[in-house]
Amino acid sequence: QGKVQGVGFRPFVYRLAREGGLSGHVRNTSQGVEIELHGPAPEVERLLRRLVAELPPLAEITSLSTEDIAPRQDLGAFSILQSQEDATHSVLISPDIAACPDCLAEIHDPADRRHRYPFTNCTNCGPRFSITRSIPYDRARTSMACFPMCPACYSEYHDPLDRRFHAQPNACPDCGPQLWYTDVRGRTLARRDDALRETARDLAQKRIAAIKGLGGFHLACAGDDPEAVAELRRRKNRPHKPLALMVPDLDTLSRFCRISEEAQEWLTGRIKPIVLLPRRNGAMPRELAPDTMDLGVMLPYTPLHILLLAEYAQMLGPDRIPALVMTSGNLSDEPIALGNREALQGLAGIADRFLLHNRDILLRCDDSVLRPLHADAPPLLYRRARGFVPDPITLPQEGENVLGLGADSKATICLSKGERAFVSQHIGDLTNPEALGFYREVVDHARTIHEAEPRVIAADRHPDYASTRHASEYPGLPQVRVQHHVAHILSVMAENDLAQSCLGLALDGTGLGDDGTLWGGELFRVDWEQRAVHRLAHFRQAAVPGGDRAVVEPWRMALSYLLQQGVDPQAYTWPWLPDHSRAQDMVARMIQGGINAPLSSSCGRLFDAVAALLGLADSISYEGQAAVKLEAIQSPDTEEGYTCSVNTETDPAVLESGELFSGVYEDWKRGVDPGAISRRFHVGLCRSLGHLIRHFRQQTGLNRIVLSGGVMQNETMSTLLPHSLARQGCEPFLHTRLPPNDACISLGQVVYARFFT
Ligand code: ZN
Ligand code: ZN
Ligand code: FE
Repeated sequence: QGKVQGVGFRPFVYRLAREGGLSGHVRNTSQGVEIELHGPAPEVERLLRRLVAELPPLAEITSLSTEDIAPRQDLGAFSILQSQEDATHSVLISPDIAACPDCLAEIHDPADRRHRYPFTNCTNCGPRFSITRSIPYDRARTSMACFPMCPACYSEYHDPLDRRFHAQPNACPDCGPQLWYTDVRGRTLARRDDALRETARDLAQKRIAAIKGLGGFHLACAGDDPEAVAELRRRKNRPHKPLALMVPDLDTLSRFCRISEEAQEWLTGRIKPIVLLPRRNGAMPRELAPDTMDLGVMLPYTPLHILLLAEYAQMLGPDRIPALVMTSGNLSDEPIALGNREALQGLAGIADRFLLHNRDILLRCDDSVLRPLHADAPPLLYRRARGFVPDPITLPQEGENVLGLGADSKATICLSKGERAFVSQHIGDLTNPEALGFYREVVDHARTIHEAEPRVIAADRHPDYASTRHASEYPGLPQVRVQHHVAHILSVMAENDLAQSCLGLALDGTGLGDDGTLWGGELFRVDWEQRAVHRLAHFRQAAVPGGDRAVVEPWRMALSYLLQQGVDPQAYTWPWLPDHSRAQDMVARMIQGGINAPLSSSCGRLFDAVAALLGLADSISYEGQAAVKLEAIQSPDTEEGYTCSVNTETDPAVLESGELFSGVYEDWKRGVDPGAISRRFHVGLCRSLGHLIRHFRQQTGLNRIVLSGGVMQNETMSTLLPHSLARQGCEPFLHTRLPPNDACISLGQVVYARFFT
């Protein structure tokens, strides 16, 4: 059992059996693959060993059981039998996989029939998840159904010794999908190879092109040209959020980024996500990522992208850096465009040209984004999509099918079946109506491809989340409401296979708490035996004036913390005062009068307040921008930190987090360099959390601590905090499979519904 279908597993067994002179057969079943072997025992054993040791690149065996059967002499040569049709399936669909070396060699070989063919693939690589309509996975149920194979492809497909035996998306220039290139009105300018060449030429001349890829459209422009990048930002209405780059190879990349060993593995591996890397001083336009020194970069992962980047590099010549901006083809905050017509309509105001093809994308899937941390740790995921989905996470035991509806920001859904939990790709922000449509598609698709009907619906406690409201579409089913930060913690536990009691620290934006206030800086005790979660402590609450308004205008949080710490805001000239002097009085009255100023223990809002006080971000244009800027200015050499006390008189206990803000304020008043202040804030927060946890370790006897929440996207926090906890003897656990942001909520909800109700 495992990932053994559509990945070249049967031909692999066939080859081994033939080599060992064994007879018998191999066939797909609804549970996985069945192999019957007849021959001398040592040869059979050798095959079983090789089965594990020489597994094809995409195959994965999750369990292997053997039994002795009566020998038969009447069998001919080993054979591959037809699939056994069955009502239930537990076979896993593979994620989309980057082009393999064999396919690359073919597209670069002028003598090969697939020379320069952008849709070349084989059993070891190519599209899977994003072209699969339903299961079992075969061509008729994919978007390749409308491309009948030519005789040459047909014979590859049916030859067990061919690399393309049963490769469902198998295609060639004679029978497969084709490219063409159009202007904004859909008029064809070029076809096939000429389309690629024209696209590269236009990009080199600083035009903006929409490019249909694997899981959706990209918007592309010359990444080394400040004007082209600025123009794309203007048209996309995306002033600051970092833009990802695609480069032809590592050599090009090393011209402007430093590449660690771990980063190189991710960049060149089978997934090829966007990898966040430190850029070399002064390299590449600032406009690519104005708030940080990092750049998000990927290598081309389909033959289409490989050919395009090579062509583009040739057009540019050696003086320019051949790096294309490749950002999701959408208007800001909308999901990535899917169909040709949809793209021509939706992206007409952004792109000058369109590189299109006629293979449908059945389900959008963005590029995944991650940051490698260090050698023996999993990477920090920011967006989990292409290459990771639909790989499941294994739950501690079997149970009913639960549909976890997730949260509204960075939404995902999670559907469990047996002991497998399938978390969807990144969907987007559900306050956007387009994203909500995509959300429904993802739910339906998950039910189809995993053949799982939900029996229980789990949603966030927040009644106004669009995801929570989606629960009303399942009126007959039991409904479970899960506290947001409890879901955060349970997700980390499931990802780490941690089915035991532990402490859980959620450092987050905001989520609705059990007491009706907004939580977001919470320490829990998870009692696994009793199946109970207790809130042990939280950050000192601060008013969030204007609710969601305060999230996009962090200066409001600075004002809130100043008042909380008893500072007269009139006593000082704030960096943001010229813009907000009128609003400041109003917001101060909101805070003091408790008018539309809900209380929150959010850690994320504390970061906002500090960033705003330092003049870094009075308002923001993308989620988390204030904290990103605060982290980026750190001077790394200061190891001092502000401290804050823990009040354990109350239950739950209170971390006096406002004292950290006071430390920032005092230093700032003295004119200390903001970079040093930022560092002292990060260090001090980790140290103070260390004190808090030390107290509760002693009180509970629990040594394991799991960490989650949007704040853990901060690289400093996700390295410093676990490090300092480990030093005091704790065993810290971070996310290993999902991002620490709200993309993990759906899994946590499923775990709660399965094990805590
Ligand atoms: Zn291949
Ligand atoms: Zn063909
Ligand atoms: Fe959250």
